[in-house]
Amino acid sequence: MNTRELTRPQKQFLSGVFPEEDCLLSPERMAAFSTDGSRLRAMPLAVVRPENSEQVSELLRWAHNERMPIYARARGTGTVGNTVPVQPGIVVSMLRMDRILDMNQSDFVAEVEPGMVTADLQAAAAAKGMFYPPDPASSGFSTVGGNVSTCAGGLRAIKYGVTRDYVLGLEAVLPGGRILQTGGRTHKDVVGLDLTRLFAGSAGKLGIITRLTLKLLPLPEATASLLAGFCSINAAMDGAAAIFQAGILPSALEFMDRSTLNALREAGSSPLPDTVQAALLIQTDGSEQGVALGLNRLESALKRVTPERLLIGRGADEKQLWDVRRSISPASFKLRPDKMGEDIAVPRGKVASAVEAVHEISARLNLPIMCFGHLGDGNIHVNIMHNASWPEELAHAQQAKEEVFRLALSLGGTISGEHGTGLTKAAFVDQQLGSNEQDVMTGIKHVFDPHGIMNPGKGW
Ligand SMILES: Cc1cc2nc3c(=O)[nH]c(=O)nc-3n(C[C@H](O)[C@H](O)[C@H](O)COP(=O)(O)OP(=O)(O)OC[C@H]3O[C@@H](n4cnc5c(N)ncnc54)[C@H](O)[C@@H]3O)c2cc1C
Repeated sequence: MNTRELTRPQKQFLSGVFPEEDCLLSPERMAAFSTDGSRLRAMPLAVVRPENSEQVSELLRWAHNERMPIYARARGTGTVGNTVPVQPGIVVSMLRMDRILDMNQSDFVAEVEPGMVTADLQAAAAAKGMFYPPDPASSGFSTVGGNVSTCAGGLRAIKYGVTRDYVLGLEAVLPGGRILQTGGRTHKDVVGLDLTRLFAGSAGKLGIITRLTLKLLPLPEATASLLAGFCSINAAMDGAAAIFQAGILPSALEFMDRSTLNALREAGSSPLPDTVQAALLIQTDGSEQGVALGLNRLESALKRVTPERLLIGRGADEKQLWDVRRSISPASFKLRPDKMGEDIAVPRGKVASAVEAVHEISARLNLPIMCFGHLGDGNIHVNIMHNASWPEELAHAQQAKEEVFRLALSLGGTISGEHGTGLTKAAFVDQQLGSNEQDVMTGIKHVFDPHGIMNPGKGW
């Protein structure tokens, strides 16, 4: 029933379940829910804002019977168009469900609703001496539910893993209205298939998550960081290798290539001299004593590969070093007004080859392409900067994107380390996933969502 407009009984159903302020039907009120970080856009038929699982259950029972597409949505910071309602349907904003239901210092567990902003959860845990490690760069404005549904990675993944490693259990409402409970409060559980993990990275395609049980850790006492500038990308990789060879596992290991540093310089946000062509930003955490020792060991490991510049940050100075990393996104627009932001991942030892190959693509197509990201996980953010109003440059950017994906796959990598495929990469999924893999995935999805109403029209 993919009609362009809701029928009167359909509107009556929605406004019967959701009070007026939580059932948006006018284009003016729905416009903000038609797009996300991808900047792609499609107008929903309606937007609803549930406050509890029962409302979500009623909605999904109805949607299943009506064959009505459903698009779960949180803060809309996803960059691949996963929340965009490309087939006419209902957008379900989860932001009203944003409470901490329990935070327990004996179990080291938090029970939360999915619409909670990740940084708020981190702060609440820290106030009780606990630590929620997953830390996407968007943690200040994305939600825990969005992070679980995309299996968000982030800055601390090298030491602490990604979001899926912290989900112990969840409640999800399935099409048809069934409320599924998976996992629990134990940090280990091997009974049955791992349905909890199936939801991590499922991008709203299986059901709507309404509650999460998350693992917490003791809060590290202190952190310290180093920003190291090198004369080339290979020298920076030697720096990273020296850290690992010294037996050090940093809590974050980020890199920036020369295009990224150029953009930062143009924006006045780089503390590094022009001779620096690549940089590493490294963090260590632990007890006060452990961090002081870790910093010494990091410094001596890095000095072995003679960096051009080494800046150390503790306390307020540390924030300044991370501000450099945070400035990358705004600085990128100094190069061109438009961006294709890809997030390939390659085996860690292939990062230098991948970055050099991207530089070759950049030179050949005459486009500024920035490479930076989570070196520790081999996760490279490739920002293809261009001016979309110049047809030739737009075509070159598209070509660069296709070449970057082929490059990642040729190096044994993936077309997405953390953002997913959504709309912007849907056409490339076949290049990575074989038909057997996709058949099994389709079969699993069918069990949860036999009529294909959950987030239709997106890549795996
Ligand atoms: C500046 C910036 C930096 C970023 N940095 C990182 C980074 O370091 N690492 C990283 O991994 N990503 C990063 N991202 C991407 C984005 O922030 C993440 O994908 C984030 O997890 C999305 O969270 P959200 O709350 O905005 O979810 P949305 O974008 O609203 O939704 C994302 C997906 O989750 C689904 N979803 C949301 N809530 C639910 C629910 N309750 N039940 C079922 N499905 C649901 C949606 O259908 C959609 O498929 C960044 C984005 C920006 C703009």
